[in-house]
Amino acid sequence: MSDLTENLAKAEAALARFRREGVLNHIGGTQRMAASGATFDTTSPVDGGVLASVAKGGAEDVDAAVRAATAAFAAWRDMPGKDRRAILHKVADGIVARAEEIALVESMDTGQAIRFMSKAAIRGAENFRFFADKAPEARDGQTLHAPGQINITSRRPIGPVGVITPWNTPFMLSTWKIAPALAAGCTVVQKPAEFSPMTAKLLVEIAEEAGLPPGVLNVVNGMGEDAGKALTEHPGIKAIAFVGESRTGSMIMRQGSETLKRVHFELGGKNPVIVFDDADLVRAVDAAVFMIYSLNGERCTSSSRLLVQDTIYDDFCAKVAERAARIKVGHPLDPETVVGPLIHPVHEKKVLGYFDTARAEGAEIATGGVKVGDVGCYVAPTLFTKATSDMAVAREEIFGPVLTAIPFADEAEAIRIANDTEYGLTAYLWTNDLTRALRMTERLEAGMMWVNSENLRHLPAPFGGVKASGIGRDGGDWSFDFYMETVNVCLAATAHKIPRLGA
Ligand code: NAD
Repeated sequence: MSDLTENLAKAEAALARFRREGVLNHIGGTQRMAASGATFDTTSPVDGGVLASVAKGGAEDVDAAVRAATAAFAAWRDMPGKDRRAILHKVADGIVARAEEIALVESMDTGQAIRFMSKAAIRGAENFRFFADKAPEARDGQTLHAPGQINITSRRPIGPVGVITPWNTPFMLSTWKIAPALAAGCTVVQKPAEFSPMTAKLLVEIAEEAGLPPGVLNVVNGMGEDAGKALTEHPGIKAIAFVGESRTGSMIMRQGSETLKRVHFELGGKNPVIVFDDADLVRAVDAAVFMIYSLNGERCTSSSRLLVQDTIYDDFCAKVAERAARIKVGHPLDPETVVGPLIHPVHEKKVLGYFDTARAEGAEIATGGVKVGDVGCYVAPTLFTKATSDMAVAREEIFGPVLTAIPFADEAEAIRIANDTEYGLTAYLWTNDLTRALRMTERLEAGMMWVNSENLRHLPAPFGGVKASGIGRDGGDWSFDFYMETVNVCLAATAHKIPRLGA
């Protein structure tokens, strides 16, 4: 892997054209300024420097993008699945070919460490390949027999859809939504997060170079309450796939209600990692540390609550604290860096605020709890100990490299604390007692659970949360269920009796 100096030079080369061209909207195959001419700056959390001027789209731009997506829909829908598959594989090839550029730009725009962003770019390509291969079967349904009738189901793409993405790992998360939508035969209008709009430009560029017809994927940049809101309210948009905060999800549900929008929400989390004293504690420490301090802790599936059995609580927390203190915080392009700067000063302020909250609530700061350096949004990996479930640091999604450790006595208490949250995205469980694991997974309120594992992903498996963590599932066929309508045709197999009214 290149060192920091080399990566800085490469990033500078990749960013030069963004400085020159800015980040425009991409509508119907062409780059456009916002109709109003308005722009905003995207800045780097590394030093606050301006990376690019971005088109600040609004309702007029969204309307133009929806028109383009509507015009492109019929031809894309009717293209044979194997042809869509071929184009989407070419998109994946294009992502792989430009993975380094994507990773460098993403690191500078978001502050995420290059070691993770390189993998995230490749994951984006895998998402395209996985759904590309499913494109030919997307329309398939079932036949359902009953006496005297045969029902044949099939699926149709729902129409132009809106995809609204957050600022954490934006490239990979966008592909997770856009690839299945395109494979299903939908056209897309994406509204990227205003804090990290840069790699959306690269994705649409790569896609069109790979042969995606103009208008099939459109991008409108801008603010959530403006461009985002207009997208959710537009009658031409049939569904909204949204990844972001839970309270934004509820706003989107309200905004989309007038036009009866179908919604798919991947929202926040306050995920527990539960460690029993019979577990493989070496691996459990590795997983607990990885799942909160990787990706800056700005990760919906991060395990931000550490629930440890009281018999091993002090020792386990000491080990996690020791490891956290040794984690390298630094420039995101340094290949040694684990924790880079947080996305934006606004978010950094929120995270730093929890250090005072923790102290005021009576938790102890075992490590971290401070800002690092004077320039950039750097925060030390932090562990709060002696916490209880009612503290804000145990209840609210901090979305940074900050872990809250709570002791528990037994299985019943572990479940009570784990479920004592409005969220329900993931839960991680460490025990070598198989029957306990089975009992626990029956009762944990989470959409995804991992036993003796960090967040291992399998693209055909369902991804999504319960409670305030989401509505709907991605992955495998579940994604197609969202982007497609299932229709039924009933054929009479006998001359059944029809009431002869008025005969
Ligand atoms: P956010 O909700 O602030 O913003 C997400 C997107 O919604 C942005 O593009 C924003 O502009 C847009 N938006 C804001 N208000 C809107 C409105 N009224 N109408 C339409 N769009 C609007 O989220 P964020 O801070 O960018 O991302 C972090 C959050 O995302 C965290 O809560 C995290 O847990 C969550 N997340 C969840 C998953 C998951 O799979 N469950 C994955 C990644 C991130």
